[in-house]
Amino acid sequence: EAEEAEEDDENRVARPPVVTVMGHVDHGKTKLLDAVRSANVVSKEAGGITQHIGAYQVPVEHEGEERRITFLDTPGHEAFTAMRARGAEVTDVAILVVAADDGVMPQTIEALNHAQAADVPIVVAVNKIDKDTANPAKVMQQLTEYNLVAEEYGGDTMFVPISALKGTGIEDLLEAVLLTADAALDLRANPDKAARGIAIEAKLDKGRGAVASVLVESGTLRQGDAIVCGTAHGRVRAMFDENGDQVEEAGPSRPVQVLGLSSVPRAGDSFLATDDDRTARQIAEKRDAIERNAAQARGRKRISLEDFTKALEEGKVDTLNLILKGDVSGAVEALEDSLLKIDVGAEVGLRIIHRGVGAITENDINLATVDNAIVIGFNVRPESKARDAAEREGVDVRYYSVIYDAIDDIESSLKGMLKPEYEEVHTGSAEIREIFRSSKFGNIAGCLVRDGVIRRNAKARVTRDGVVVGDNIAIESLRRFKDDATEVREGFECGIGLGKFNDIREGDLIETFEMQEKPRD
Ligand code: GDP
Repeated sequence: EAEEAEEDDENRVARPPVVTVMGHVDHGKTKLLDAVRSANVVSKEAGGITQHIGAYQVPVEHEGEERRITFLDTPGHEAFTAMRARGAEVTDVAILVVAADDGVMPQTIEALNHAQAADVPIVVAVNKIDKDTANPAKVMQQLTEYNLVAEEYGGDTMFVPISALKGTGIEDLLEAVLLTADAALDLRANPDKAARGIAIEAKLDKGRGAVASVLVESGTLRQGDAIVCGTAHGRVRAMFDENGDQVEEAGPSRPVQVLGLSSVPRAGDSFLATDDDRTARQIAEKRDAIERNAAQARGRKRISLEDFTKALEEGKVDTLNLILKGDVSGAVEALEDSLLKIDVGAEVGLRIIHRGVGAITENDINLATVDNAIVIGFNVRPESKARDAAEREGVDVRYYSVIYDAIDDIESSLKGMLKPEYEEVHTGSAEIREIFRSSKFGNIAGCLVRDGVIRRNAKARVTRDGVVVGDNIAIESLRRFKDDATEVREGFECGIGLGKFNDIREGDLIETFEMQEKPRD
């Protein structure tokens, strides 16, 4: 195998960098992708319509050489991190689009957090410079705070002023991508072997069956090859490029649409070409079995704060990754400042890979999954999709309403002193549909139980758009129509009385939980 690797190394040739475009909503990601494509894709006929196949390649004249860049056509860090969560690291360089009139916005920071967590080098496209209100210098200065220091300021990040609308600066941007890729990465792959790569998107087409867009990472994919992609398998019946032209073969970093798979793979699934159909089918079946086992095993936690303490004692880890979410930016900053001030000596590191304001999202959980991070929620709760994802992936999400408590737990963990205690178990949540004023019982919330079960003896927490407005509230009354109830299940309506707690509004969520002793292992 070592021999094979060596031989592989010798045969490697330069391959195009693969680029993802990220940034705040409306800052011009889509416009940029359009501008790059229309200015550069070599279309067979002038004015020919390009096809969306999930990615496209453009030629770039660079230092007298003809080079190429592959653009992933789904902008945004959500797709990027969802792929990473599936184990697919396809992006070589991220273009961070920042509108020069708006400057750095929350999703700009989110995007750069995601790229930095993946160790992907960033090129900043300062967009909309055609506008009178554009202030590119401000963007440069703002991003310095996030370790993106412009070359002009002595750093090594390239900032390129562009107008995606007018198509100006695009060539410079492509040049910057190549310079950044060449400086930071060794982009080579062996084209002379069986193809391997990643599915970037897939769909079921009425006439053509499963249609998968794949990105070849190494080797060369040819028409007629037997392949396995995720748990799908088959033979490459036909391949098409971004111009809709049929192609016979595709080398490293080349995106192509593939017909001939038995079923529809998922974005992020890996593929490989095999010697024959039978091998492809066998690998697909094996992957299917492994996946089913993994789904069963996923009930278990990835890393909890307690696991971390234990692993730290055993010398298996040395850095704790955290994601901080809070209801207001001041609280998140205060939390981050205090956490970074914890003195734990040189051996242990604390890395805050992402911070933000608002409810905990599925995206946060995806990031926690790939980077084995623990999520700290300060006065915020997860969206329901995020809760499901956290449960499925076993991500430790910890909730606090007092900053000191959070710091105390993290500090104890880092010092190897965290003792397992009680943990909160979510039992159900109910949405407030209507509020009834009762002189005898205080306000009664007329609710629909959204998930799980609401129990009379559970504790309640009230949230509004993911932000906690009341916590640890005793349920004073629980009724189905006129009758007292001990529990009400998902899909049923009920009246919940929270006693003196009166800060409830229609649309609020009442979440109930019980405290359980943590299992020791
Ligand atoms: P996305 O949400 O980041 O994909 O942003 P879009 O590409 O959809 O662009 C958002 C809006 O900004 C659209 O109305 C675009 O026409 C506009 N826009 C994008 N780039 C530029 C630019 O360079 N200059 C100006 N003036 N407007 C732009």
